[in-house]
Amino acid sequence: MNTQETIDMFDKYVIANYARLPRVIVKGEGCYMYDADGNKILDMFPGWAVSAIGHCHPKVVEALRKQAGELLHIDNTFYSEPQGQLAKLLSERAFGGKCFFCNSGAEANEAALKLARLHTPSEKYKFITAEGSFHGRTLATMTATAQPKHHEGLLPLLPGFVYVPFNDVTALEAAFSDEVAAVMVEPIQGEGGINIAAKEYLQAIRRLCDESGAVMILDEVQTGIGRTGKWFGYQHFDVEPDIMTMAKALGGGVAIGAMMAKEEVAASLVPGKHASTFGGNALACAAAVAVIEAIEEGNLLEHAAELGQYTKDKLEQLRQKHFIIESVRGVGLMIGVQLTSPGTEIVDKCLEKGLRINCTQSTVLRFMPPMIATKEQIDQAVDILDAVLTESSK
Ligand SMILES: *Cc1c(COP(=O)(O)O)cnc(C)c1O
Repeated sequence: MNTQETIDMFDKYVIANYARLPRVIVKGEGCYMYDADGNKILDMFPGWAVSAIGHCHPKVVEALRKQAGELLHIDNTFYSEPQGQLAKLLSERAFGGKCFFCNSGAEANEAALKLARLHTPSEKYKFITAEGSFHGRTLATMTATAQPKHHEGLLPLLPGFVYVPFNDVTALEAAFSDEVAAVMVEPIQGEGGINIAAKEYLQAIRRLCDESGAVMILDEVQTGIGRTGKWFGYQHFDVEPDIMTMAKALGGGVAIGAMMAKEEVAASLVPGKHASTFGGNALACAAAVAVIEAIEEGNLLEHAAELGQYTKDKLEQLRQKHFIIESVRGVGLMIGVQLTSPGTEIVDKCLEKGLRINCTQSTVLRFMPPMIATKEQIDQAVDILDAVLTESSK
C-alpha cells in the first residue's frame, strides 16, 4: 500500500481528531524513523516522547518476543511476575512507594486523583493544579489541565478544581484551604512549553500539603524514566511527592502507565476502589522491565545529562545567530527553544530536511532526543535547524 492509499483509508475510516502530516511511518530504529516513500528521518521527538531509548530498542524487542511466547495477558485476579518485578524496579529507583499499573498517562493521573480523595477526609475534595499544565484528556485530567483551550466546548468541567499560576508561591498559599485534597503539578511542564518548577515552589507545595494533610502529586508522565538525566524529575528538586505518575517512556513504545504512592497513601486503595483490565499486563510490564535494564546497562542517565547539556550549548550557539530564538531552557534531554514568533512552519521545514522536532504552545520548539543519541546526531539536528532558520529569515 502506498502513502496515498494509506491516507485515503484514514480519511474514510479513522476519526480525524489529529492534524496528521502526510507521511506514513513504516519503520523505526534507534534515532531514526522511515516513511513509506523511503525517507529516513532523524527523530528528536520520538513517538511523542515515548520512545525515549530509541525506536525498537533491541532489548525491549527481545523481551517482548520472549514474553509473547509465554503469556501476553492475565487478569489481576492472579499474580504475574513481570508486574511485581516492574513495581520493585520502579520503587527502588524512586521513593520506595507501591505501584498501580494502567495503560496511559491520563489513566495514571485519574488513579492519582481518586487515591488522593480516598486517602483524605471527605470534606477535602478540591484539587489545585497549575496554569499551563497538561495532565491528560479524560474528563478529570482535562479539568486538571489548566488551559482554557483544552476546555472549549466541554463546559461545565468537573467541580473542585482550582487553578493557580505556575511557580507562584504566594498564589498557591492563597488558594490553599482545608478543603484541598491534593496539589498536582509537573516538575517540568512539557506541553506547556518546558517550564521548569523552581525548587522553592515544589518545596512550598510539600510544606503546604504536610501542614494541611493534603496529598502532593507529581505528574512525571513526561519527565519520568530518565528523560531529565535522573530517573524522575523530582530528584532534581530535593523534594518527594506522596504520589507520582508516569507513562510515556515507561514501556519503550508499549502502552503502559503507572502510579506510585507512598506506602501509607497506597494503603487507601483497597479492592473495589479502582482497577484497570489491562493494567499491569505481562507484555507491557516485560517491556518496561527491559527499558529500565537498558537504561542501566547503557549508563543512559549519565549520558542523558551530558548530552542534554551538549544539546543546550549547541542551541544556545544558534541563539547568538538567529534573532528568532529568544531563549533555550530545559533539564537533561527535555529541551525547549523559545521563539519570538510561531514555530509550526519551522517544524514542517525541518521535517522536509529529514529532522523531526515538535512545536508546543505555538512558539516553543521541543527537542526531546532519544537517550541513546550521539553528539554527531545532535550536531546533525542542530545543523538542520540552523539551515531552516537561515532560509526562513531570508
Ligand atoms: C502526555 C502527558 C499526559 C497524558 O498522557 P496520555 O498517555 O496521553 O494519557 C499527562 N501528563 C503529562 C505531563 C503528559 O506529558
